[in-house]
Amino acid sequence: MKIILATSNAHKFAEVKKILKNFELYPLEEFLTPFEIKENGMSFKENALIKSKAVFNAISKEKQKKIVVLSDDSGLCVEALGAQPGIYSARFSKQGTDEKNREKLIKKLRKLKLSQSKAYYKTAIALSSIWGDFCVQATMHGKVICKERGSGGFGYDCLFIPNHFDKTLAELSSEEKNSISHRFKALDLAQILLRILARNYG
Ligand code: IMP
Repeated sequence: MKIILATSNAHKFAEVKKILKNFELYPLEEFLTPFEIKENGMSFKENALIKSKAVFNAISKEKQKKIVVLSDDSGLCVEALGAQPGIYSARFSKQGTDEKNREKLIKKLRKLKLSQSKAYYKTAIALSSIWGDFCVQATMHGKVICKERGSGGFGYDCLFIPNHFDKTLAELSSEEKNSISHRFKALDLAQILLRILARNYG
């Protein structure tokens, strides 16, 4: 059984490959010319399934018999902002860069006269296969602060302090972050489904 990762993001491919080290993982480009997929779902789960189904359906029926497509969708939900930016995390600001997205988040919290808020990251992992479509989800809870701290990670990491820690994710080592992250937990759950699928694909 081959697993195609429905992303053109090399950073994400490397991260997933590290976690799913017991599976045969391939980048999308090895099977298909990447094409635009409209992520117009209303939740992480819907968007992850839109991506995995679109890629699986673009593969020939013959090849589908040996392939599972894995996709993910993730983001940050801030309690004081009514769970924003949520599914719009990557394009929260007009410019859509990590720096501008963080700036907008801080501005919104300050406007509410807050220096922090409870928040959580969420990841949905979707699998599309000849056995059907599946989705697992996981979260990492903590709080966001209004002052950037640390230089590791990406996205909103320098503003996010996980529960039971006093450092932001950007101040933790990548090993520490990966052992508690929403993406790691969701992929760990996905492995259970992948093992069952592998048994049935033969
Ligand atoms: P994606 O859907 O996984 O590409 O993530 C969407 C956006 O959510 C990213 O561009 C980041 O802004 C944010 N995000 C998701 N996961 C993380 C994380 O682990 N750390 C920091 N930001 C994240």
